[in-house]
Amino acid sequence: MSYKLFCMGDPLLDVQVHDNDLLTRYDLTPNDAILAEDKHQPLYDEIAQHPNATYVAGGGAQTAARGAAYCLPPKSVVYTGCVGGDDWADILRAADAHDGLDEVFLVRPDAKTGGCAVVITDHHRSLVTNHRAARLFHVSHLTSPSVAPLVSAAQVFYVEAFFLNHGLESVLHLATHASSTGKTLALNIGAPYIPVKLGDRLAQVLPHCDIIIANEVEAGSWATANGLPDPKDLPVVARALAMLPKVSKARPRLVIVTHGSRETVVVSSDAPDEPRTFKVPVLKDEDIADTNGAGDAFAGGFLAGYVQGKSLDECVAAGHKLASISISQPGPRFKWPKVNI
Ligand code: ADP
Ligand code: MG
Ligand code: MG
Repeated sequence: MSYKLFCMGDPLLDVQVHDNDLLTRYDLTPNDAILAEDKHQPLYDEIAQHPNATYVAGGGAQTAARGAAYCLPPKSVVYTGCVGGDDWADILRAADAHDGLDEVFLVRPDAKTGGCAVVITDHHRSLVTNHRAARLFHVSHLTSPSVAPLVSAAQVFYVEAFFLNHGLESVLHLATHASSTGKTLALNIGAPYIPVKLGDRLAQVLPHCDIIIANEVEAGSWATANGLPDPKDLPVVARALAMLPKVSKARPRLVIVTHGSRETVVVSSDAPDEPRTFKVPVLKDEDIADTNGAGDAFAGGFLAGYVQGKSLDECVAAGHKLASISISQPGPRFKWPKVNI
């Protein structure tokens, strides 16, 4: 079996609620992604009993992988991460299969599958992750007889930087494989805390990256952590990321910074002084269900275009289109019957 795109991340089940009050009570910021601390533990019981709670497959890379699979022919995309031996893992398996995504999970039967509390207010989403089984991933899964051939055969790798919380060795395994064989490694920075708290680990992976995806807050956080004077100047921040040392000379590095409804900025390391901007298709307020997973859906659409060898303009357009499909429904979910991307 030869999948073109191999994705790795924390498989999480999202529990979504629309509730302004929760933000204040749990001291959350509206547009952030954090790891649960002790003070957040009651949040999980609270939202599980919330009358409007919806359960939907989440996890950044899992959403992107489902998105890419949705756009591509069957057997194009495979996803790995660690789940528990519970019904939450089955919900994730069903959601992946629904969009044509094959998975090769590492299963820890005694652990519980990870979850993410998603508190939605207006067009923002605040994510509070509880990794549970997801943290138990081990690099030996990537070198196991069932997974190693998939790694060898894949052409493009997509990894979420969240994995650096627990799985630096696994990320570096894929990263060095990609850079030493001239394959493509795409990384999503995923949360503003990553460049701050896991900056050293991120710095070990970035030289292997061919494609770096971030939203405006994550790009800004990387800029601040690395001493750039204006973290809001997205073309300059993207340029700095693009110009970091690069191991593989097989292709220039692309840095893509999305910015919600505002234009997406792309800088390529072969033309660092020529940032490109791409307008986002306008969605009416009443057509937006929630923006949870928007950036991941963008990544999925972009990568689907990329593995088919499409142009940068086509890849960004596919990313924007898949993101608009995802945010027009509750949770990161795609529309069936299938819409052509
Ligand atoms: P993240 O979910 O990582 O914060 P963004 O918020 O930048 O990522 O959104 C990614 C993409 O989703 C955008 O480039 C755009 O295509 C789409 N998107 C997000 N929010 C909106 C919105 N309010 N209106 C229209 N499109 C949006
Ligand atoms: Mg956003
Ligand atoms: Mg994102």
